[in-house]
Amino acid sequence: MASKGMELKVLVVEDSKVTLKAICGYLERMGIQALTAETGRDALDLYRSEHPDIILLDGRLPDIDGFEVAREIRAMEKKKDWTAIIFLTSMTKDEELARGIEVGGDDYLLKPVSEIVLQAKVNAMRRLVEMQRSLIDLTYKLNQANKELQLLSATDGLTGLSNRRMYDELSLREWRRCERTKKSFALVMVDVDYFKFYNDHYGHQAGDECLKAVASQMRRAAPRASDVVARYGGEEFVFALGETDMDGAKWVANHLRQRIADLNILHIASPLRHVTVSCGVAAVMPGDGVKLEMLLQSADYALYQAKQQGRNRVVGVEYGQANKEIIP
Ligand code: GH3
Ligand code: MG
Ligand code: MG
Ligand code: MG
Repeated sequence: MASKGMELKVLVVEDSKVTLKAICGYLERMGIQALTAETGRDALDLYRSEHPDIILLDGRLPDIDGFEVAREIRAMEKKKDWTAIIFLTSMTKDEELARGIEVGGDDYLLKPVSEIVLQAKVNAMRRLVEMQRSLIDLTYKLNQANKELQLLSATDGLTGLSNRRMYDELSLREWRRCERTKKSFALVMVDVDYFKFYNDHYGHQAGDECLKAVASQMRRAAPRASDVVARYGGEEFVFALGETDMDGAKWVANHLRQRIADLNILHIASPLRHVTVSCGVAAVMPGDGVKLEMLLQSADYALYQAKQQGRNRVVGVEYGQANKEIIP
């Protein structure tokens, strides 16, 4: 809701035609064309259909008492469409005024209504309504900004995939879900082959484009909503796949490897002549004494094996098989 240029909607609820006419005349001189109701029932109907900003509300009405009308309006309204309610009353006893405040009145006007007092109060309420609207506007913008910040802190700037921080969070969540549902969980570590040579030969910017192309294939190769696809760092990527066993994960990895080979991105500095990836796969049933970190080390070890065996391939290893042979 924009705050500027917005017409102020005023509803006058008054069963005395004389008073109603007088008040509408005062408002007209302020440039306000008021809506009117002569019964509590009509007032509630108009509130529902028109959402007025300000209601001038007679305390005594022929059907539903004005205080009851105010109470019902307060019960119906949501935070964002707060309506200013000014009671019109000829009673000066404090208890009556207190009752008006208690049911949600914001102010009151004594009858007979003075033009100058009415205009002053309507102007004051107008300011409140405008402030409230700009506050809503600001809150909305703040929420949007927060959402964008959250997204920025969770995604990798180059590829748009989840970053390492987000990967840690999402993979752990998926791991725990598999632990509860007693399903196998798999990790696939993906690393671009001879990527240093690619950068050296084609330049860093071309390298970045290549990483983006790999990332978009990563996204396609893991289509399930629960699949975690992330840039692990540098030219390394990772899949965390819930409800997936070794065979399933190998299938996903091979599918990805093939898709990337099919891109046919020329890489003359590689013995393989085009851009390829190697994948390390490990899978396990989460449970007592089984650790996600160990699974990651196993997948890392599998990746190392894939590199050793000539790259552009997928290797799977058993959970727990790790590290020993990796020379830093
Ligand atoms: P291997 O086949 O054994 O994986 O060899 P490699 O050359 O791919 O491996 P290495 O780890 O030696 O080199 C990785 C290179 O990735 C080095 C680094 O400059 C490059 N790299 C890491 N992050 C980025 C990036 O964001 N953009 C670009 N263009 N290059 C990056
Ligand atoms: Mg009355
Ligand atoms: Mg690497
Ligand atoms: Mg590499």
